[in-house]
Amino acid sequence: MNVAGLALDNIDKYGEYVSTYFEGDSFTNVDRYRHACRLSAVLIEHGVKPGDRIVVMMLNSPDVTAAFTAIWKIGAIIIPITPMWNAREVHYVIEDSGAKLVITSPELASRLKEASHGIAGFREVLVIGETGEPGTVNIQNEIEQVEPYERVMDQEPDDLALLLYTSGTTGNPKGVMLSHENLLFITDSVYQLNEHLPQVRGMQVLPLSHVYGILIMNLGAMMGSCGRILKHFDAREVLKTIEELKVERLSVVPTMLTLMINHPERENFDTSSLVQVSSGGAPLQEATRLEFSKLFNCRVVQGYGLSETSGALTGYHPDGEYRLGSVGPALPGVEICVMDFENKILPPRATGEICSRGPHIMQGYYNNLEATKSAIIDGWLHTGDVGYLDEDGFVYITDRRKDLVIKGGENISPREIEEGIYLHPAVAEAAVFGIPDAVYGEALMATIVLKPGQSLTEEEIRKHISGYVTKFKVPDRIVFLDSLPKNPSGKILKRTLKEQYSV
Ligand code: AMP
Repeated sequence: MNVAGLALDNIDKYGEYVSTYFEGDSFTNVDRYRHACRLSAVLIEHGVKPGDRIVVMMLNSPDVTAAFTAIWKIGAIIIPITPMWNAREVHYVIEDSGAKLVITSPELASRLKEASHGIAGFREVLVIGETGEPGTVNIQNEIEQVEPYERVMDQEPDDLALLLYTSGTTGNPKGVMLSHENLLFITDSVYQLNEHLPQVRGMQVLPLSHVYGILIMNLGAMMGSCGRILKHFDAREVLKTIEELKVERLSVVPTMLTLMINHPERENFDTSSLVQVSSGGAPLQEATRLEFSKLFNCRVVQGYGLSETSGALTGYHPDGEYRLGSVGPALPGVEICVMDFENKILPPRATGEICSRGPHIMQGYYNNLEATKSAIIDGWLHTGDVGYLDEDGFVYITDRRKDLVIKGGENISPREIEEGIYLHPAVAEAAVFGIPDAVYGEALMATIVLKPGQSLTEEEIRKHISGYVTKFKVPDRIVFLDSLPKNPSGKILKRTLKEQYSV
């Protein structure tokens, strides 16, 4: 098996058709596959061997999907990284994963050069396009001139396809190991709900650096969909594309719905083609769901998943009954239960930790047996999400056990930001947590205690953190306090702070 086989199956099943629109160009599925075959050949010429890890860091484009197919075809492993991360954050991933090569686009070449500097075993930054950055290699001409490499290497079910670095409760992101079987299973599971639909017109607005975007990309191949790839989310572009391409189905994170609802030009576009929008990646407020559904006259449903579950766990059948507040039932072949904190399975309606098992569960965290052992117990992945099931198995998420902030669908580890704040010599204590935000779902708040006799302004601390984490992770709200609330053993009570500032 090989995830790259999806591209070939797509051609076999649906024939040649226009599958991809991007910035005024259109390409057929056959064009796209040829391009991937040429990129495979270039990678082989650059010494890539099966099992090598390759970082792909680019804004969305057809080059990203081609790079994915090209890497999988030759049995190498993809490490997708969001273009939002700064050089320090990327350096950590390259070093931790042992990646040998990076594929990127011209605008990110210098950041990747800096990020890969001084890492033992690292070989090259490959750039698709003109690069003015010394020491990086433009492979555009090579791709155009090389003979395509046709073969798809057969992979064992548990051979790794993706190493996805996701922010968790610890400071540094953890590498979630997903196999070819993981990805194929989950794609097929979501496909089973949708297979009765004719070839769908959609749009890729989710980042292809995230598991959710990758799942939607693979699902599109299985369903024979066509659609526009957006470089990044832009509400006006989305509205315009819905009108131009008569987009029927869309997968988004909740923030995108809010931005589309609030866009001043919303009413200027004809969005009547829209049939269903699926929202996942973060909690969707019922009010937002209803408002979107009313304004766009379409159905809005939620799905739920994690990187650790290959992107999905639940989902609604397109014609299935919607249950208020539920992220839907388990996908076909996916087992979900709710456990108490002693790992005992609870009956319907009892609240506990949502757990899952099945072929979609990750192989573990890369190089981190301890974290793997505490996440997967007796084959059940413990999601860190709190909720309950109803009598028919519909899942309701009520809380999050893990110390994680989800801002605009992007997971952020408060620990990482706290570590950055603590590096300032005037800081005695800091706690970072999420507070409700109307657009992003959650915003980042930092409470800081200074050392005696020190003074610091909000601006100074913002500037300091900006040197450490990407702009998106700089706290939106900063408050200086005399002390932080603690329990008797001295642990900072973040929940108390969160409750206090969430009103
Ligand atoms: P990630 O690994 O980046 O996909 O993040 C997974 C986390 O996102 C989950 O553990 C949940 O906390 C959260 N999440 C994903 N989908 C939903 C949803 N529909 N409702 C609430 N939280 C969600």
